[in-house]
Amino acid sequence: MNILVVGGAGYIGSHMVKRLGQAGCHVTTLDNLSSGHRDAVLCGEFVQGDMADRPLLDQVFAQGQFDAVMHFASFIQVGESVQAPAKYYANNLVNTLQLLDVMLAHDVKHLIFSSTAATFGEPQYVPIDEAHPQQPINPYGRTKLMVELALADYDQAYGLKSVCLRYFNAAGADPEGHLGERHEPETHLVPLVLQAASGRRPHISVFGRDYDTPDGTCIRDYVHIADLCEAHWLALQHLRQGGASDAFNLGNGNGFSVQEVIDTARQVTGQSIPLQEGPRRAGDPARLVADATRARQLLGWQPQYADLATLIGHAWAWEQSRH
Ligand code: UDP
Repeated sequence: MNILVVGGAGYIGSHMVKRLGQAGCHVTTLDNLSSGHRDAVLCGEFVQGDMADRPLLDQVFAQGQFDAVMHFASFIQVGESVQAPAKYYANNLVNTLQLLDVMLAHDVKHLIFSSTAATFGEPQYVPIDEAHPQQPINPYGRTKLMVELALADYDQAYGLKSVCLRYFNAAGADPEGHLGERHEPETHLVPLVLQAASGRRPHISVFGRDYDTPDGTCIRDYVHIADLCEAHWLALQHLRQGGASDAFNLGNGNGFSVQEVIDTARQVTGQSIPLQEGPRRAGDPARLVADATRARQLLGWQPQYADLATLIGHAWAWEQSRH
């Protein structure tokens, strides 16, 4: 199989490229390296370029003879999306629509799209299943939802089949230690806690301890990067076998609080991890937990690394290997 991975030099994309390579696929990565890393692309062809570059896309598609596209190339910072929505609409929406045009022009009809729990907005109930209303509360979530809606129309009109995978909190690192999280700047809890454990940061700030949760800190559903990649692989098989377009929520169904993540990291690393109490971060719901029953039932997805200590252990091995 020939697969184009757009955004394959980023955190989730790079793990996926490795997974596809191990499955014997011929992988082409297209990435503008705005936040990805060339050395994270461990196999296949690499093309440095932007989804906005239509002639380049046409050239890559003409050469690639792709069976499917996996699309990871998005801006992902909620706060930034509020401050700079144009950047998010231009890349996450307009450039994605261009990618879809090029797919259709080259008769590539299978897409796996990275969506997000942020399309749901403030939860009306947890765990969140696919029937939960989608009412995003920031431009990031809106751009992702708009693509989801476009994909449904493109299927109906053009026969473009897609699976939207709505990640809850992607975390952890390659269990073999070859890849991990390298956002710059880093904003995610697990890598920040581990940077505080290794001494790269003075402390971890806890964003609010007055939420309506048992210990007062926010609860999230941390899903291991390798399990996410497996879900993409299964979604691809689903489309290849003639499955209908669909959308799945991906999480473990287990919520862990910020305090529980820090406590587990203390156990895993043996480090004390200095902690500082901070104010709430705007737009953070108290509790976000996935109901991934449909992915389990329809895709046969079975997370292998649902245990938080294992996830943090892999991320810690990566953090230590880098410094
Ligand atoms: N968080 C925190 N301190 C940090 C970074 C994050 O307390 O330095 C909290 C954040 O408020 C949220 C949880 O950790 O409740 C997960 O945040 P992250 O940014 O990793 O993912 P998000 O849930 O925003 O996708």
